[in-house]
Amino acid sequence: MTRIPKNHPRYKSLMTREKISLAMKKGLVHETGLIAHGRGEAFDYLIGEKTQPFAEMAEKIAAALLLYAKNPVISLNGNVVALSAKECISLSNAVPAKLEVNLFHRTNERVKKIIDNLKSIGAKEVYGFNANAYIPGLNHDRGLCEKDSIYSADTVLVPLEDGDRCQALRNMGKIVITIDLNPLSRTSKTANVTIVDNVIRAIPTIEKWIKVLKRNDKSELNSLIDTWDNEKMLKEVLCFISRRLQDL
Ligand code: ATP
Repeated sequence: MTRIPKNHPRYKSLMTREKISLAMKKGLVHETGLIAHGRGEAFDYLIGEKTQPFAEMAEKIAAALLLYAKNPVISLNGNVVALSAKECISLSNAVPAKLEVNLFHRTNERVKKIIDNLKSIGAKEVYGFNANAYIPGLNHDRGLCEKDSIYSADTVLVPLEDGDRCQALRNMGKIVITIDLNPLSRTSKTANVTIVDNVIRAIPTIEKWIKVLKRNDKSELNSLIDTWDNEKMLKEVLCFISRRLQDL
């Protein structure tokens, strides 16, 4: 990795870029993942590069939904693994939820590399290689998934998802939670719960709420979930961004 001086004002952001770039060189991230990362960075600037109250609330609701679910699954792609692999494993243990690798630009080689990488840092079971089911409506390899994991899940956490797949998962009747810094993306508009936050901050915050809400029974979780209005929250994000820009 290129040495970035610790006192550089953009140290954190530059180190994150280094992580993504290294993961691409290792074959974990597809080259277009770098572009997706850049779009994310731009929106992170706009929200102030920190977890804002609208994201904290979405992270709390996400935790409630994951705890409420009978069969929750966390879907992983190259960028998510490059930035938050350990945190995703830790979250999957805390819920507990299954982990499945699901790629837009799918090759068996990249799926295997990502799974091996996750196992080398402590993941016990990772689905995705033996794809034996298809998400209806997606005529592309990104529709491939495993019957015992995403296909049969009732709730899926899909960070950095694409809009079509998000819609196809919803069409299957699943509860879809996404993490997407862009409040205008199709995914953000389609998911049941959109966390407008960086995946690096979002995953540990969801886990923090898992630990708090684990003591709640199902009816308490349900009452909390019922308070959520995703459309209203997305409008709030846009108002927040425009107020921030006016104040600058
Ligand atoms: P859609 O199909 O939903 O409209 P898209 O085509 O705009 O999505 P993709 O390239 O499929 O976008 O997905 C990348 C998304 O992930 C972008 O919206 C980007 O803002 C977001 N993103 C990138 N990096 C991060 C990150 N670190 N944390 C959270 N979101 C991120």
